Amino acid sequence: MIKLYNRLGLALLLVIPAAWGNTPAENLAEAVRFKTISFQDRAQIDYQQFDALNSFLTETYPRVFSQLQVESVSEYSWLIRWPGTDETLSPILFTAHTDVVPVEPGTEGDWSHPAFAGIVADGRVYGRGTLDDKQGVISLLEAAEQLLAEGYQPTREIVFAFGHDEEISGLQGAGVIAQRMKALGLEFDWMVDEGGLVLLDSPVLPGKSLAMINVAEKGYLTLTLTAQGAGGHSSSPPRVSTIGSLSNALAKIEANPFAPKLEEPVRTFLETLAPHVDQPNQFLFNNLWLTDWLVASQMAKETLTQPMVRTTTALTMFNAGVKENVIPQRAEAKVNFRLLPNDTPEDVIAAIEAIIDDPSITVSHDRWNQRPGIADMQGSGFEVISAAIQSVYPDAVIVPSLLQATTDTRHYVDLARNQYRFHGTQMKPEQTASIHGTDEYISIASLEKTVAVAAAMLRLGGAR
Ligand SMILES: [Zn+2]
Repeated sequence: MIKLYNRLGLALLLVIPAAWGNTPAENLAEAVRFKTISFQDRAQIDYQQFDALNSFLTETYPRVFSQLQVESVSEYSWLIRWPGTDETLSPILFTAHTDVVPVEPGTEGDWSHPAFAGIVADGRVYGRGTLDDKQGVISLLEAAEQLLAEGYQPTREIVFAFGHDEEISGLQGAGVIAQRMKALGLEFDWMVDEGGLVLLDSPVLPGKSLAMINVAEKGYLTLTLTAQGAGGHSSSPPRVSTIGSLSNALAKIEANPFAPKLEEPVRTFLETLAPHVDQPNQFLFNNLWLTDWLVASQMAKETLTQPMVRTTTALTMFNAGVKENVIPQRAEAKVNFRLLPNDTPEDVIAAIEAIIDDPSITVSHDRWNQRPGIADMQGSGFEVISAAIQSVYPDAVIVPSLLQATTDTRHYVDLARNQYRFHGTQMKPEQTASIHGTDEYISIASLEKTVAVAAAMLRLGGAR
């Protein structure tokens, strides 16, 4: 009997928060209050915060966590399966992550509201993770909870994967979830991760909404350049020092950026945009067979559009010397590249070695990850996401696009034939700077639309 009471008590505890009907904004604000911060040095991570967030999610979305097949992976990540009625159809996957980046020390006071207070004010939810990516987790769970309450039953299996370390490579979260999926024999028709959004009033489409479904992402490569030479006393210096030769190599690299070029999916992005823009852009975008070189070189001149048309080069680290009167025997620098979808790391290394043209400089690199390819811009996944967007943002111009950052998506390369990146969040271009920056917030209206898009994607994706 006591056991029964306990169970009843537990059941009530689980049901009450849903019965109270907290709004998505209140739930997101609460989720922000758990400091699930990923630090590069894993020893600094407070895993109790992840446990507490997970307990909160379990209590807040009782239908999801009791009616679906829930597995915790690597202790803090989630793999959640919602079986479909037709087992012959391959499942679809929706992913997001629960960890956030730290607030840069010294910038805490620049926030309108403390970054982890979870403040709801002025029609907005403020805090670290409100855009990246707790709104992704919350909106998918809100949508699933809502559909379960309605008695919705998918025809095609729906799977959710919520990693806990996306901001520091995702190896323990998405990486281990992917291994578990392989062991389970899961193969997805398509998947949707974070990384696409609805831009309001963007420079390419002033006054309108631009829904960007990212069908590809840029590659990531860091090269380490090392110069070695004779050291010694600074009173009798060599003709060329290690610092001098390395600086010379870096100056050549910076002076020789990769040539701009117009490739997929950016070509289709511009062609899709063409009917909605003014002249002369309309003509230029409609005739890329003739104008692509001109469009690429124009886009390369703007900071905002440059990454879409070239493999970018960023000099990020330089280390040499220990004392002002000692010639260093070794100087080392790091250069970070973001690759266009068709450029390979081998291409970049060969090009950089040719530019440096100095046998005394050694070029090395870490092992690179598998890269997602370009997803089908007409396939059923793209159609489902587009229809979901249309149902919530009837006036939005929907385009396939290229994500400039990287996400957890690469961990699922072998598992999903087509990988898309999109959350139905609407924002102005300026607001994107708050992601990993200061004053991150989501408007309540935008969060509600994100939930509506998530629900439409689940409903439409699960139906066929
Ligand atoms: Zn993220």
